[in-house]
Amino acid sequence: MLTPIADRRYLIPFRSQLLPAIFADTLVIGSGVAGLRAALAAAEFGEVIVIAKDELERTNTAWAQGGIAAVLAADDSPEQHVADTIAAGAGLCAPDTVRTLVDEGPREVEHLVSIGARFDRDSAGALALTREGGHSRRRIVHTDGDATGRELSRALLAACRAHPRIRLFDRCFALDFLAAGTAARGTDRVLGAITHHPKYGLQIIWARASVLASGGIGQLWRETTNSRIATGDGIAMAWRAGAAVADLEFVQFHPTALYVAGAGRSLISEAVRGEGAHLVDRAGRRFMEGRHPLAELAPRDVVSRGIVEHLAETQDPNVFLDARHLGGGGFSERFPGLYGLLKGYGIDPRTAPIPVMPAAHYTIGGVWTDLDGRTNVPGLFAAGEAACNGLHGANRLASNSLLEGLVFGRRAGVAAATSDGATRGDVRVISDIRLSDKGELDLVDVRSSLRSAMWRNVGIVRAGNRLADALDMIHFWCRYSLDKIFDDLGGWEIQNMLSCAALVTAAARAREESRGTHSRTDFPAPRAAEAHHRIYRVGAEPVLCAERGSPPAAPEPAVSR
Ligand SMILES: Cc1cc2nc3c(=O)[nH]c(=O)nc-3n(C[C@H](O)[C@H](O)[C@H](O)COP(=O)(O)OP(=O)(O)OC[C@H]3O[C@@H](n4cnc5c(N)ncnc54)[C@H](O)[C@@H]3O)c2cc1C
Repeated sequence: MLTPIADRRYLIPFRSQLLPAIFADTLVIGSGVAGLRAALAAAEFGEVIVIAKDELERTNTAWAQGGIAAVLAADDSPEQHVADTIAAGAGLCAPDTVRTLVDEGPREVEHLVSIGARFDRDSAGALALTREGGHSRRRIVHTDGDATGRELSRALLAACRAHPRIRLFDRCFALDFLAAGTAARGTDRVLGAITHHPKYGLQIIWARASVLASGGIGQLWRETTNSRIATGDGIAMAWRAGAAVADLEFVQFHPTALYVAGAGRSLISEAVRGEGAHLVDRAGRRFMEGRHPLAELAPRDVVSRGIVEHLAETQDPNVFLDARHLGGGGFSERFPGLYGLLKGYGIDPRTAPIPVMPAAHYTIGGVWTDLDGRTNVPGLFAAGEAACNGLHGANRLASNSLLEGLVFGRRAGVAAATSDGATRGDVRVISDIRLSDKGELDLVDVRSSLRSAMWRNVGIVRAGNRLADALDMIHFWCRYSLDKIFDDLGGWEIQNMLSCAALVTAAARAREESRGTHSRTDFPAPRAAEAHHRIYRVGAEPVLCAERGSPPAAPEPAVSR
């Protein structure tokens, strides 16, 4: 079924012995919360290199607004945070993963404070906690109201920069994980990665262990709140190296992204609705009333579907978030960052409703790991949005993902840095790729057509026939794009996006039910027979798994093509 993305082991031809080599104990791919937390933990044991394909600060982490969930209030308890997370996850959360997140969360917030992260405080000097959708208690710590991610990123980067055993490389694009042999997949240890830097060209970073923390796949959809870095490179390269991936059909769509022609889809935080803003249509009607008892405060997937259905009825391009009744200073004081952003687009939320649309927001699935970020491939660990350890089940509870990056980033960093193996450099890795005899497709066209097709057919509301159409289209583009050799980031990103799109669409087609963020018109209810994770590996049939246990065994050495 996934033949078009099963052929290539490496994106480019190379001979490892002919390329400049850099050595580390642990290589971390990604400078978001998961990567930086992993780096700080790994640096306790040895030398660490962190790479990011763009500026170090350009991450989804830095864009996070609402905050970090953790049990810190006297009237809160780990049991309640666990129960809220599991309720959101629609029957697919891994209970031990949830428990680990909740138990280790408060310690991670303390660690952030100890490295200088600044959070909002109440008049008594205690951490100010707010509440978000799905949380039964106030447990979200935040900075400057809506700039939590920026502060988190600043504090973690400062700690990494100050650490004598951490080196940070920006604009260093990871193409593929290296393993011995010419086409080894999942059978051999990952020995590091081949990277490209605009100034230094191709290089190999050899490491005893690698931590993948490359974030999600939001850029696969035409409408997304995600940073431009979120093209799924890491998930695609882990797949090529034989890693198992799971739950990629579950993508959280945020109901309220700013909808202004020509502008990025900036997130309008859920907290704005939490403070009392209403969702209305062009005629000023609150269309979520009657669709759910909580109206616009219903879970994200319900509100996103409500908007899509209402837009289909009205044929309008967008809906509005009306915050005018919140009062003069209310909006600008509670949401100073958003207020400034909106003003930049000529929108004053005190006097005008804000145009909004749903947008792809969070990747629930990813590289399948155990509680220490271990994958089925020796030497390869994963954490954060690139990983899937069953934490979110079929739907993510708001503000659990920064905490996930902290808790499981630290665990992956420790496990990687203390794992067996050695930093090599003496291993010959050869990638030979035949030149394609097929015609060329225009890459810019493929990218925008793919994103539109994903939005239309693999978006908020799905149906079997449309998923099948989308998969046909994706496979067609794959056949003409994955057989090519590119020499720049634009081409490699498209190849990775197409691979991830094929995986997401195949998984969405296979899941014949509606559960959490995955909604199918032809299977409108959850089905007991589908209450499992579906795990994919190159060259193998998908494996069903009811619970996240130990990572699945490596695939057989002979990879079927
Ligand atoms: C607008 C917005 C608001 C959000 N608000 C919240 C919130 O309030 N609370 C919450 O808990 N969550 C929130 N989230 C989700 C949360 O921010 C993310 O899930 C989390 O930050 C992901 O962290 P990460 O470290 O896994 O990845 P990221 O922060 O996305 O970092 C990915 C890193 O990988 C690097 N990378 C990618 N590909 C390559 C490659 N090929 N080579 C080298 N480097 C590569 C990137 O350069 C980047 O450094 C929000 C998300 C968005 C988009």
